[in-house]
Amino acid sequence: MRRTFLKAAAHAHAHAHANTTNHSGRVKNFMKAAVIKGKSQLVVDQLPIPKPADGEFLVKIHSCGVCHTDVHVIDSDWGTPKCQVPGHEGCGVIHEIGGSGVHPFFKVGDRVGLPWLGSCCLNCEYCLSGWQTLCPKQENAGFSINGGMSEWAIAPASGAIPVPNNLSFTKAAPILCAGVTAYKALKEAEVHPGEFVTLIGAAGGLGHLGIQYANAMGYRVIALDLTPEKLAFCKKMGAEFAFDMSEKSVHQILEVTNGGSHGVVCFAPNANGFKTSVDVARRKGTAVLVGLPNASFQLPIVDVVLKRITVRGSIVGSRKDAIEALDFAARGEVETDIKTIQLDEIVGAIDRLRSGKVEGRTVIEMPAH
Ligand SMILES: [Zn+2]
Ligand SMILES: [Zn+2]
Repeated sequence: MRRTFLKAAAHAHAHAHANTTNHSGRVKNFMKAAVIKGKSQLVVDQLPIPKPADGEFLVKIHSCGVCHTDVHVIDSDWGTPKCQVPGHEGCGVIHEIGGSGVHPFFKVGDRVGLPWLGSCCLNCEYCLSGWQTLCPKQENAGFSINGGMSEWAIAPASGAIPVPNNLSFTKAAPILCAGVTAYKALKEAEVHPGEFVTLIGAAGGLGHLGIQYANAMGYRVIALDLTPEKLAFCKKMGAEFAFDMSEKSVHQILEVTNGGSHGVVCFAPNANGFKTSVDVARRKGTAVLVGLPNASFQLPIVDVVLKRITVRGSIVGSRKDAIEALDFAARGEVETDIKTIQLDEIVGAIDRLRSGKVEGRTVIEMPAH
């Protein structure tokens, strides 16, 4: 179905100015979108406004966050993307429901988000147990299906996330990926209120949300990052301790925690951070791996066995995790450090992200129609 859509899109684009047909009472048939034209080639272009099939919603996008994963997709780091439009932090309002026009859980006018977990089969052992993130048949927004960096987007019903009414789309957007990823990783760290969690790479997009979620969850936060400015930022975000990432920091953490951190989450995309996450774990502690460096690290087997340390990966979060993560944001417990841009500025924003020049989270705000 997607291939058909892409072909139709390419065809329609060639006739962009000749087409005058209206459908569904929409004012126009074409929309502005960020479009991947080839490896590392992103342009702002016109695409036909998609038509929702049965089980899909047409969503008027209001905001879409820009994530480092978008750079990987655009640069074909994970193979040629099957989508034209990147973006997995799109948020907006359901304008049209495909098929019969009704859905048991969503209606026209509902506020929804289009996360990385774009759709899932709802029927495999993972979907049935609340682990849609592991569904082998999942589609990913802004990778295998078109994402949210466009004025309109298709949201499969099996992936759409309700956005609370008291949370702006711009504030909700980064929660759909960065927020839920940090929140789920903290749940996976199996820390109890009053216990320590160490966040490695704590000043970044995920880390600064992780500090706030951890505080809201009642954990004591130790932040690790690289510069005095970043450590000060971590303190401002609510870290109880903030240490410079070095050999020394392992001893500092073992000391302030009196034996190691109950949970550790490594957001930093470098193998050293992963090694550190095991080194600072307490007996019976859990180290959660989140960052995605193309690397390996050595596990000290004796330590892991004798201290009964758990090492596990964590990828985004389920629909339930996303709903919970948004609820923290709606209650003002977590707030993303956001810079807004227009869709026309996306190419430069991706370039800045690629070169590591972005602090906080960039969110595209669409013009009102
Ligand atoms: Zn992301
Ligand atoms: Zn499934």
